[in-house]
Amino acid sequence: MRDDIDVKYFRQQLEKRLDEITAGQKPVEPVDLDQARVGRLTRMDAMQQQAMTQAAARLLSLEKQRIRTALDRMASGDYGYCIGCEEEIAEGRLRADPSHLTCIACARAADPR
Ligand SMILES: [Zn+2]
Repeated sequence: MRDDIDVKYFRQQLEKRLDEITAGQKPVEPVDLDQARVGRLTRMDAMQQQAMTQAAARLLSLEKQRIRTALDRMASGDYGYCIGCEEEIAEGRLRADPSHLTCIACARAADPR
């Protein structure tokens, strides 16, 4: 357990974000191909819109997963340590997003840009 960071504060942030995601998440409706009901949207527009909604939903569910993992790691005292190299994750990185599970070096190694 790290005592150099305010784990309690990060837990509050994570729980708040988890609530927001859960409250905002709605099941994705199937594309309605009935033109009359689709209204001014063309079928292509409706499908494109659905694809974007699904992509956004996927991102949110990934974030939810990360938050749950971070909360689990708080419970076990592993929070704030990188799941890649087990080094401490910089506090600034956790402040930017408390659900970060890796240090910046491991994040860059996994997703070099
Ligand atoms: Zn690391």
